[in-house]
Amino acid sequence: MNIANWLHDTQRRDPQRPALFEGTRQVADYATFAAHVRQRAAHLVDQHGLAAGDTVAVLMKNSCDYLELLYAIWWMGGVVVPINAKLHPAEAAWIADNAEARLIFTDGGRVFSASRDLPQRCKELDGHTLPPTRGWPTLEQPVPRQDQDLAWLFYTSGTTGRSKGVMLSHSNLIAMSLCYPTDVDPVSSDDAALYAAPMSHGAGLYNFIHVRCGARHVVPVSGGFDAAELFGLATLLGNVSLFAAPTMVKRMVEQARRQGYGGEGIKTIVYGGGPMYLAHLCDAIDVFGPRLVQIYGQGESPMTISVLPRALIADRQRAGWATLAASVGHAQSCVEIRILDAQQQPVPTGEHGEIAVRGATVMHGYWRNPEATRQTLVEGWLLTGDIGFLDAAGYLTLTDRSKDVIITGGSNVYPREVEEVLAQHPEVFEVCVVGEADAQWGESVVAFVVTRSGDALDETELSAWFVQRMASFKKPKKYLFRSELPKNSYGKILKTDLRQSLKAASIAALT
Ligand code: AMP
Repeated sequence: MNIANWLHDTQRRDPQRPALFEGTRQVADYATFAAHVRQRAAHLVDQHGLAAGDTVAVLMKNSCDYLELLYAIWWMGGVVVPINAKLHPAEAAWIADNAEARLIFTDGGRVFSASRDLPQRCKELDGHTLPPTRGWPTLEQPVPRQDQDLAWLFYTSGTTGRSKGVMLSHSNLIAMSLCYPTDVDPVSSDDAALYAAPMSHGAGLYNFIHVRCGARHVVPVSGGFDAAELFGLATLLGNVSLFAAPTMVKRMVEQARRQGYGGEGIKTIVYGGGPMYLAHLCDAIDVFGPRLVQIYGQGESPMTISVLPRALIADRQRAGWATLAASVGHAQSCVEIRILDAQQQPVPTGEHGEIAVRGATVMHGYWRNPEATRQTLVEGWLLTGDIGFLDAAGYLTLTDRSKDVIITGGSNVYPREVEEVLAQHPEVFEVCVVGEADAQWGESVVAFVVTRSGDALDETELSAWFVQRMASFKKPKKYLFRSELPKNSYGKILKTDLRQSLKAASIAALT
């Protein structure tokens, strides 16, 4: 089934229901939303000669037009190639080329005018121009698609080597969307999905279930994440749900405390995409109450590996709460989870290993990359590259990306556990732990720290704080104080950049 059928169904049943909002201003009901989609879809076919199965890239910031374009591409049977709007044009052009995109939509249609990066066959168009209605027949219904037909070709952030195109089909997206009301949060037509994180990533994929249920879609006027703006919108619109990376939740907590806001108008904050330290989760619960749900997923099984439900997060009196709250919850409905050893054999309960996932949301493979597909999809199991363990009740604790584990003096140190301890320190605002090459130990533990005051802390005092709480071989050998940590546009801390800065500093010290 073509997932665009969900829009078709909703607009037939509830044409007048409010659909798209720029800030608090309604710009389309479902009838208008679908009419624009049909118009844009027909234009793609008749004006640009696109056919079902063709790939179309979208390099745009969040907007209502973004949603219309996504549905227009699916409506005519095309495959969306979402590109992070913050990428350099040369990187975006590489993706458009690799994905064999025939068109690329941008904000304004002039991103590539000065550069010759864009491949010949790929034409740039302004995503904000609604094509005229006359001149070509409209496509009344979505073009039929098979379950396995591609819908979303998502390029991984590529921290190791070139980015790879993750192939997700209509049925992957349908399964992912149905997990949301089953596992994460029920949805009703009174709800509003607010897009504070980039639509090119997981946050954009939450649109489907909200379209299916005839809910509102709200794009902040700033086009991005501004906590004060978000609170204003939630207060005025009500029943707002959003996806936020843990670093965004942290900024929301700081802003809420500054302005005395307590979550009014927010229904649910779904967080995930990176570690949420327990100390920060406690702050978020203090401020927002029972509004938080955690998900763990990755581009290869988007938004759907595990879920930590709202009731559990909010129940701080529950026995063993801290351990469960520090986990990423249990498997979502459409997947099963296993932990594997280096020989890819399942390990006993409680033992660390690589997290593997199988189920209806798992990708079909990497685009035009059979070698990477073979390495990642093994006998139907997706090897996530994440390290973790399962408890007897099926709760999954994620320790780290396998490549982030630090091996010091032959022992494994999981940066996450070191970060958890430092994040509890009242003066520590943000922290990131990485390994540095060390002649004596193989690797040593280094902590990058941002303090609340902006001043460096006394290292002896920090070390004393640490050894009161954790084995001393895990203690950072070095604390490096920074005014901020490098993050990508999804709010994830760029560990690779921090590791590289250490490498560069040690080379400089030698020369
Ligand atoms: P991406 O494919 O860019 O969405 O990144 C996925 C990766 O982010 C996962 O493989 C994990 O390493 C990390 N991640 C996602 N969700 C969580 C979570 N809830 N807690 C900790 N790390 C997470």
